[in-house]
Amino acid sequence: MWTDQLKEAAAFIRERDDFLIVSHVQPDGDAISSTVVAGWLLEKLGKTYTMLNEGPVPSRLAFLRKSGEILTLADGSSGPPRPFKNVICVDCADYGRTGRTSDWFAADAELLNIDHHPTNDGFGRVNLMKFHAAATAEILFELIDEMGLELDTEAATAIYTGLLTDTGGFRYSNTSPLVMSMASRLLEAGANGPELAEHLLERMTAGQIRVLQRGLARLELSADERIAWLWVDSEDLEQTGASNEDLEGLVNYPRNIEGVEVGILFKKNGEQSVKVSMRSAGKVNVAAVAQLFGGGGHVRAAGCRLTDPLPEVVEKVVAAVRKALDEP
Ligand code: 5GP
Ligand code: MN
Repeated sequence: MWTDQLKEAAAFIRERDDFLIVSHVQPDGDAISSTVVAGWLLEKLGKTYTMLNEGPVPSRLAFLRKSGEILTLADGSSGPPRPFKNVICVDCADYGRTGRTSDWFAADAELLNIDHHPTNDGFGRVNLMKFHAAATAEILFELIDEMGLELDTEAATAIYTGLLTDTGGFRYSNTSPLVMSMASRLLEAGANGPELAEHLLERMTAGQIRVLQRGLARLELSADERIAWLWVDSEDLEQTGASNEDLEGLVNYPRNIEGVEVGILFKKNGEQSVKVSMRSAGKVNVAAVAQLFGGGGHVRAAGCRLTDPLPEVVEKVVAAVRKALDEP
């Protein structure tokens, strides 16, 4: 039962102290929001904690409370590993998604796994998983309620950010009645909805526009126009001044084409490493396709990483999507 899961997670937190909070490699809006909200919750309970991610906080999310305190392995701000016994993983679909932060887990570490990805394998000692939750931030909101804590503006802003980014601005099919009622409470608690939407969804950097121009110039459609894809590489980023976070949202362009069932973005970094992002209009379960290549995610948004040259990756992934489309 969901309420039992909430109680078990609350007990995990209440009975321990000195936590490590981690999220997934290349953290996104929900990952960073969930990280700082978990920190906020522990602080309210008088607990100590350290926040750690493999990748840096995207600059667009630097406004979130104490996001500047999240240690990053990529920039060395973390220093040498210190083993933690109590670990909270947020928004990580599987253990591998924690990346190198797991160097900081003590050999006898116990994990609380808080996540909303249907491909989550329940790797925690305690698992707080709700697969139809729009965002991990939604689950944290329920945990805050369960623990009887009162929201303040900072926490409300962070939870709203997680909901806003993982629902594409309250538009995707995961925008449930619960999400909207939560959004209402978060606005009442002081989250500034229009400002967050403008900052997180509307505003584009010059680099983002330049890399969009390049990406769209390479857009390809399958013969039946049901699959569309484009690619970018690290040279594009260097030459346009765009950052990795500027690529977020790029995959929506192929997906949004009328008639297209699956949109794909290939991000090449290095000769043999391609990150694949897939978005489905609904017919194809792209999480299942991503799992064929060791990745995962949600039915309509999923990803994976392949270690082959780009043309081969494009061929393999497009073929797998085509096969999934042709299945009854
Ligand atoms: P994105 O395409 O935006 O990177 O990711 C879409 C969704 O798929 C996100 O929920 C993300 O957590 C998940 N995802 C992306 N890449 C991977 C991966 O390599 N493995 C797993 N398990 N999930 C992924
Ligand atoms: Mn998420």
